[in-house]
Amino acid sequence: SKEEVLRLRKAHLNPAIFHHFKKPVMIVDGKMQYLFDETGRRYLDAFAGIVTVSVGHCHPEVNKAVIEQTQRLQHTTTIYLNDQVAEYAKELTDKLPGDLKVAYFVNSGSEANDMAMMMARLYTGAHDIVTLRNAYHGLSEATMGLLGQHTWKYPVPQGFGVHHALNPNPYRGVFGNDGPAYARDMEDLIKAATPGRVAGFIHETIQGVGGAVPLADGYLPAAYKLIRDAGGVCIADEVQTGFGRTGSAYWGFQNQGVIPDIVTMAKGIGNGLPLGAVVTTPEIAAVLAQRLHFNTFGGNPVSMAAGRAVLRVIDQEQLQGNCAQAGGYLLDRLRQLQERHDIIGDVRGKGLMVGVELVKDRQTKEPAVQETATVFERCKDLGLLLGKGGLHGNAFRIKPPMCWTKDDVNFAVAVLDQALSEL
Ligand code: PMP
Repeated sequence: SKEEVLRLRKAHLNPAIFHHFKKPVMIVDGKMQYLFDETGRRYLDAFAGIVTVSVGHCHPEVNKAVIEQTQRLQHTTTIYLNDQVAEYAKELTDKLPGDLKVAYFVNSGSEANDMAMMMARLYTGAHDIVTLRNAYHGLSEATMGLLGQHTWKYPVPQGFGVHHALNPNPYRGVFGNDGPAYARDMEDLIKAATPGRVAGFIHETIQGVGGAVPLADGYLPAAYKLIRDAGGVCIADEVQTGFGRTGSAYWGFQNQGVIPDIVTMAKGIGNGLPLGAVVTTPEIAAVLAQRLHFNTFGGNPVSMAAGRAVLRVIDQEQLQGNCAQAGGYLLDRLRQLQERHDIIGDVRGKGLMVGVELVKDRQTKEPAVQETATVFERCKDLGLLLGKGGLHGNAFRIKPPMCWTKDDVNFAVAVLDQALSEL
C-alpha cells in the first residue's frame, strides 16, 4: 500500500531523496504520455521523469529492443567486441554535425560532464572553466562546482577554477535579449578571473533545471569565439535539449548556429535506461588514447539497444516535428493564458521545452513562490504532473514525452487555467 511504501522510504532511503509534491503521488504504471497511480487514476505527464522518457513511457519498440537484448546478453563490459556499442556509436554520431564523430558512453549526465571537463583540461593544458549562473550540469563533486543555483549546492569545497559568467536570460538578465552584450561581459570575466587562457566553456542551450530559460539571441556565436580565442573548447550540455525536443533542431546548439567541440548527453537518450554519452572530435578524443579510462556499465548492450531504438523511434514517428507543432501550439495557448492571468510573468522555450514563470508584479518581477507551489499542487490534483524549478522557485517546467498531442496541450492549459483562476 501507499502508506507502507511511505514508511519504508522514510526508514530506509536517504532523506536527501525528496518528494515532488507536498502530498506525494505514487506511480505504478506508465503508458506513453500518461502515468497511473495505485488506484488506477490517470495523469497527463508534463515532466517525463525529469525530461528523460523522451519517446513515451514503456514505448513498445524500445521495450522490444530492451527485452530482446536482455534475453541475449546483458553485460560483459567493453573489453570484448560487441555489435551493439559499435553500431550505436556510428548511429548516434551520424546525428551530429562537423567532426563530432567519436563517442564515449557513460551512465548519467553528471558522468558525461565530468568527462567533458576532464577532456577539455587535458586537451588544452589549461584549468579554468567558464559556466553560467543558473546552470545545472549534475551533482557529482566536479559538476556540483558548475552549479549556478544555491538550492542544490552543499557547503563543501568544490568548483576549483570554475567561473560563473552572467546568465544571458532574456527575461531577467541585465542585458535583456542582447546576447553579444553578455559575451562582452564574459570577456571581462576571463581577464579578471583567469590567467587569460581557459580550458573551456560549458553551457546548456536552454537552461533546464533553471526553469527552461533560453539563451539570449546571438549569445553562443559570440561566446564561442571568445572562448576559442582564449584557447578553450566549447562544451554543449544537451542532456535536456537534445534529440529534437526543441522542435526547430535536433540539437539545441543548432538553434544558435554554432558547432561545439564536445557535446554531452543523458536523460532522454535512453528513454529511462541509464545511458549518457560524451561526443567529441577525433582530435580531442585522442587525449585519452594513451591513458586507461574505464567505465564498468558504460556501453552495456541493454542501454545501447535502448539508445538505438530511441533514435529509430524519433525518426519513424517524426517526434522532432511533433515537438515543433505541439510545442508551438502550447506556447501560443500559454501566451493567451498570460493575457488573462497577470500573475504569468513569462512564457518561454522552444518545442516541448517550455517554462512559465509566475510573478507578483510584472514590473518588479518579484517571484510568486507560494502561488507557484499552490498551483503546482492543484494541477496534480486535477490530473496534470508538472515540473517546477528555476533560480527563484517560481517557474513551471513543461517538458513532456515528445509524443504529446494537441489534445494533451488543451488539457494541460485548461488545468493550468483552472488552478490559476482558483488562486
Ligand atoms: N545536465 C543537465 C542539463 C541536467 O538537467 C542534468 C540532470 N538534471 C544533468 C546534467 C545531470 O544528469 P544526471 O542526473 O543524469 O547525472
